[in-house]
Order: sequence, then C-alpha cells, then structure tokens
Amino acid sequence: MENSNVRDKDVLKKNLKTINYVRHHQDLDISAIADAFGVSWPTMKTNFTVLYKNDLLSEGDKPRKHIVNSSYGVMLGLSIGATETKITLIDFSFDAIDWSLSPYNYLYDKIQKIVSLKPSAQENEKVVCFETAHDFLSIYSTSTNIISTVFAFCKKYNLNLLSVGIALPGVVDKKSQKMIFCPNIPELVNINVNRIVSDEILDLLKQNEIAFHISHDATAVTVFEKEWNYKQYFSKDIDALSKNMAVIYMGSGLASGYIFENRLLLGTTGTGEIGHLDLQYNDLPFINDDETCDYVLSKDKRQEPVDVEECACMCGKANCLETLIRAKVFNSTNMKDFLKKIDKNSLASFKEFNPYRYRVLCHFISQLLNITINMLNVDRIVLTGRVFNGIPQLKNDIKSLKIQSSLGCFSEDCDVSFGSTRTDAVAIGAAILSYYYLFNDSNNEMRIEW
Ligand SMILES: [Zn+2]
Repeated sequence: MENSNVRDKDVLKKNLKTINYVRHHQDLDISAIADAFGVSWPTMKTNFTVLYKNDLLSEGDKPRKHIVNSSYGVMLGLSIGATETKITLIDFSFDAIDWSLSPYNYLYDKIQKIVSLKPSAQENEKVVCFETAHDFLSIYSTSTNIISTVFAFCKKYNLNLLSVGIALPGVVDKKSQKMIFCPNIPELVNINVNRIVSDEILDLLKQNEIAFHISHDATAVTVFEKEWNYKQYFSKDIDALSKNMAVIYMGSGLASGYIFENRLLLGTTGTGEIGHLDLQYNDLPFINDDETCDYVLSKDKRQEPVDVEECACMCGKANCLETLIRAKVFNSTNMKDFLKKIDKNSLASFKEFNPYRYRVLCHFISQLLNITINMLNVDRIVLTGRVFNGIPQLKNDIKSLKIQSSLGCFSEDCDVSFGSTRTDAVAIGAAILSYYYLFNDSNNEMRIEW
C-alpha cells in the first residue's frame, strides 16, 4: 500500500499545475485548459486520462466540467493561537471534514484523550479546539501527539495524508527558522519552530512524503481567503478579481498578508506586520453626549480610559497600532482582558454600548485601508478575524470608510469585503499552504502561485 501512495504522489507532483488549474476553473473543458497551458487538445486529454485513472480528478456536475476528487487525500492544519489551538482536517477539495462522520468521529475521540477539547463556539461548525498552554514543552508534546495520532489514523483507514501545516502568531527568521517575535505566545521566542514537533515525527513525515510547513497565521489566512474566493465564484473571472489582494487579519493580534499578480508575497519573514506600524494618534473629540458616557462599561462599574504606556507592545514602538486598538478601542492593558472583550457576545453589542470607541475603531480601520489602498492599489482587501467578523455594523459602514480613506478614483475598483466567519480559517490555510510546499524541495525558495 505504501508503494502505491508514493506512486500516486509522483503523478500528483508532476501534475500540480494542471490539478490546481482544474481546482480553480471547474467550469472549463479540456480544450480551454489545453489553451491555457499552450498545449494541444490530445496532449491535455492524455493528461486528463492519467489524472482520472489516479483518482485525482473526477467528473463534475453541471456547470462544473471536472473537479478534483475530494477523497484523494487529507491534509492536517493546526493553528496555535494566543488562547486556543484549533485542529482541522481538510479533504483534497480543501473542504473541512465533518468530525461527526465516521471514521472521523473515532479520530475526534482519540484527540480528546490527548487534550481537553472545548465545545464548538459556533453552531453547525464542529471545530476541534483546545486551550493553548503557555509553555514550550506542552506545545511540543501536544503538537507531536496530535500529528502522530492523525498519522496512525490515516494509516489505519488507508487515507492519503498529504500535508501537515502549523500556523503560529509570530515572526520566524527565514534562515535560522527561529521565532524572533511572538508577543502573544512569548514562550516561543528564540525557539527554532521546527522543534515544535519531535524529530521522529519530522522523519516520519519526510519518509512518507508528507509535506510539513510552519507559517505565520496571517499568511495562512491569506491563502485560505484566496482559495475561498475560488469556491465562492468558481465560474466568474476570479483570477482577475483577486489577482492583487491584501488580507488584514485581526484576532488577538493584527497582521496582514498579500498576493501580488496571483503570487503569495512571502517577504523576508513571511508576512506584513501592519499591526506594529508606529502611528500618531490624538484622542478624537466627542461629537455628542452619548459618546461621553461610552467608557461606562456597565451601570455599576465605571472604567476610566487606560494609559497607552501601560499596554506597551513588545515591539517597543510607542504608538504601535495593535496597542492603540487594544487601549483606545477596547480599553485593555493586558491580553486576558482584551480577549474577554473580543468574545462573540461583547463584539455583537460593541457599537451599541460603545459609540465613541466604535468610531475610534473605524478611524483605525480607515487608516489601515488608507495605507493599503493608496500604497498598493490592490483589487481586493479582505478584512477578517474575530474583531472584523464579530462587529455586525462594520459591514454597513465599510463602504463609507473606504471612500473616506482614499482618493475616490483609487478606491472605486478596490473591493473591500469581509472574510469567512469560519473560526478554523487559519488552520485550513495552514494545511493548504503546507500542501503547496509538497511540490518543492527547497522550501524557503518556494513560489506559491494561483
Ligand atoms: Zn507592536
């Protein structure tokens, strides 16, 4: 069985581009795909016969002509966040697997024995999630155990495990692979990120040609959003719609990812650190009486505005944007308090109880849009993560924020939208990104293209 898996991966590796093109252009027939690759119809037809024979492609239902065969393989994604670690398994169509279905419910029970899983925060979405321990050894042992359990599970049920991706909320030095900046999990700083799992597991993955890759959470979510676009608009000219795309991600931290000319921008450390821009900010004046009582969080508990210096970020910048948002919008001096204030219920009623702070948040979002649109002039900006997705009024106000923050002629064609509300978007993105690395021997020089 092992041999046939290796042989399958050879066909997969050789045909990655064609498979991805089919994945992203399901409405095209063989002759259109042959045209796109500059080959003749018979050549592409022969190619397709091989892909069908190897279970990589299957016939689509109308209007999809061909689709990738979702059951060809699975990919594992882990996103290790400041408070929660999420585990996702996706199929070959990049869709999350339903953990309540057999045999995945068996895997769920196995994982439950390693870590104490939390109940799902969202209905109709069973996300496997547990509290992130803030010490390196716990992160190491849980990650190692989970990967090893998933590997054994895939072997037992004859599933083709293609990739394992881990997303972390920090900056990794490309050469040394050391975590150089990780304010939300400081216990990881100075650690070589490949040490997050045991050498035995790394060897096992390598021997079985299973890709392993560690990414920044904003990079992972950028890949997720790009793929999500293709799923939503599979028959439109989606290549052009998101050819140049910026993703601004605000969970417990604030970071960004970029795609230029349909290529993932990896920069020196894998992503943009827009959250640590040093911005001047003077408190906005109140515009009505409602706003002056804004800092009254409940009837019996008044909370005075916090001092920005008390919330200083590890980046050392006096007016770090991430810090400004924590202090001036959420009135938090520490991560624990901040995370409480950005839970689902608090965000849902945020504007109603905090009209002034909501306006301050809009001011900062406007600055983010201003920088992104005027500097990069992208086709699309996706705002995603807990804060952007959790405050419902932002969806109505975003258009005027976009116009306010840029020259009208620039922003007109730039689509500003909100990302998926899936809470495991980062984990899915990490699994996909790692899959894309399957096709390169020298990981760090890899180009991720669509
Ligand atoms: Zn900072």
